[in-house]
Amino acid sequence: MSLRFRLTLGLIAVILLAYAFLSVVVIQHVNRVFLHEVQNRVRLDLNSARRVFDGHAKQILERLETVRDLHQTELNIQHLKDDIHNLFSSVQNKKICDLMLLVNPEGEVIFRAHQPDNTSGDYSQNPLVEQVLQTRAPATGAFLAPLDQLTVENPELAARANIQLIETPAAKPTDAVELNQGMVLGAAVPIYHQSDPNQLLAVAYGAILLNRRYDLVDAIRDEIYQEPVEGKHIGMATVFQGDVRIATNVPTVEQGRAEGTRLSEVVYQRVLENGEVFADKAFVVNDWYITAYEPIRDPSGAIIGALYVGLLETPFTQPQRVIIIFFLLMVLSSVLATLILLSLLIKRLLAPIAPIMKMAHRVIEGDLSARVGIRPKDDMGVLCEAIDLMADAVAQREAMIKQHAHQQISQSEKLASIGRLAAGVAHEINNPLTGVLTFAHLLREKPNLTGQDKDDLNVIVNETTRVREIVRGLLDFARESPSKKEPLQVNDVIMRAIKLVGANKEFRNITIQTALDAQLPLTYGDPNQLLQVVLNLCLNACEAMPSGGQLTINSEQIDDRVIVTIQDTGCGIIPDNLEKIFDPFFTTKPVGKGTGLGLSVSYGILKAHGGMLECESEFNVGTTFTLSLLLENQQELNQTNSE
Ligand code: ADP
Ligand code: MG
Repeated sequence: MSLRFRLTLGLIAVILLAYAFLSVVVIQHVNRVFLHEVQNRVRLDLNSARRVFDGHAKQILERLETVRDLHQTELNIQHLKDDIHNLFSSVQNKKICDLMLLVNPEGEVIFRAHQPDNTSGDYSQNPLVEQVLQTRAPATGAFLAPLDQLTVENPELAARANIQLIETPAAKPTDAVELNQGMVLGAAVPIYHQSDPNQLLAVAYGAILLNRRYDLVDAIRDEIYQEPVEGKHIGMATVFQGDVRIATNVPTVEQGRAEGTRLSEVVYQRVLENGEVFADKAFVVNDWYITAYEPIRDPSGAIIGALYVGLLETPFTQPQRVIIIFFLLMVLSSVLATLILLSLLIKRLLAPIAPIMKMAHRVIEGDLSARVGIRPKDDMGVLCEAIDLMADAVAQREAMIKQHAHQQISQSEKLASIGRLAAGVAHEINNPLTGVLTFAHLLREKPNLTGQDKDDLNVIVNETTRVREIVRGLLDFARESPSKKEPLQVNDVIMRAIKLVGANKEFRNITIQTALDAQLPLTYGDPNQLLQVVLNLCLNACEAMPSGGQLTINSEQIDDRVIVTIQDTGCGIIPDNLEKIFDPFFTTKPVGKGTGLGLSVSYGILKAHGGMLECESEFNVGTTFTLSLLLENQQELNQTNSE
């Protein structure tokens, strides 16, 4: 999986998660605010419904009171009957009252406006009349009346009250198939004797049967939810008798009125059993409504039914859905936009990876001149620059190693050819020189020599000895002298060399300091030859410090090698000479003082040991020679490898 792919995937996950969370929060919030708002409104609508409901009873009461007031001055029962009759005729068409009658203080009917011929009947048990007879004050309210009682008043009323129950899902189970009571809403007013306010003459009573009386519920609906939306009423009102709809404008599936259907059991418990107000979303008949219910009580306080108002949920969920869809579309488009932006950004950010890879491949294939080249203005730019700097460093190092190797090779070649020449010449010179020296010695032994002769012979012997030393050096250099290699401790060799140098009075002003690794492992070589090397280097160092200084000799183990450094604080070597010091016969010392063979011989010896000799120097500051030798076991390994 590419970095770009993974980055994109990770960011998409983060963004989607964030947006999903945001969406859930916003949608829930919109839902809550919306529904809460609507639910509050419906809850208030229930109060309006109650006002309309109670208002109807009050309306009856007020009418009855106008009749009573007409008879404040003189009371004539016949006139009272006439007035009640007139009142009834005027309100009957307006569907304010279904029945109106006069009752004497004993509760017996004395006149029925809706049925003038029938004066039988006892109304003392009527809850409103009973209340007036007891309290002597006007009363209003709703109560349940049995069907037979209604039949006595008017068979039509009994027929209206007798509603068949309709099977309703979620309603409380019941065995009843029809209603055998009706819900009556009415008012009763006491009428007193003109001259004696304590003498009750009659009670005027008016009432309406609410069953299938749609004017009231329609009035409630119109009061609360004025205009229908698109010809359809979104608000509903219902009067329940018990849990049965007896007057409603909630439509059935067939668009009729849903009377006979029943309340859901949940609402039944809350409203009819517990007497609480229920305000929530509810499924009513065949649609979701935002509803509110409250109980209807009779004058004794018993719950006889419920008043309901509801708003169809759809018109409210519609705009809500529009808002949510709009919001989701916005989220979707911003997710898309973010993703596009992100992928562009990531592409731009990771653009340098391709050139970096290309450059790396070229370097791997050996092209050290390859560079990334580009410099984006961010961390990637810093990375590209660092990679290019690294390539520069690698190229530089490679060039240096090449140069060094080249130097070493040419040095070795030079030494090899000079060595062959020197060996030939040395052989030729060595034999006659031995002759000269032998005969000079013999001559010096002669008894009759003068002092001058003796001195001359001494010069011959000394100079010849010096020449022999040079020749011997040449032979050493040409590796003509045999070497005997054995395991040896380099520290011992160093100590022997120091002893020899320290004995030289010429170097009294020089302090010698050593830091030798006591744990230094053994190495393998010819002790005499190695002593010669160390001695050569120490002598060179001392000769470089004619007026004194410090000679420091260190030994240590680095990896598979023993490293010895010989450092002086002498005159140093100028850069031009630094390349030449290992050349045979290169010397900066006066004739007779230096042979120019010390370093080239030492170099040859170390080469023959599989070791190295290197020099670092700063003019007028000092010089450091570093010689390295293989450890004993490594040396053996080296030999077996080369055999
Ligand atoms: P020689 O000592 O006989 O001159 P070498 O081969 O030993 O020959 O040294 C060659 C030259 O290298 C010396 O003449 C001197 O110029 C230089 N040299 C060697 N060692 C040192 C040193 N420690 N300090 C300064 N110059 C040195
Ligand atoms: Mg020397």
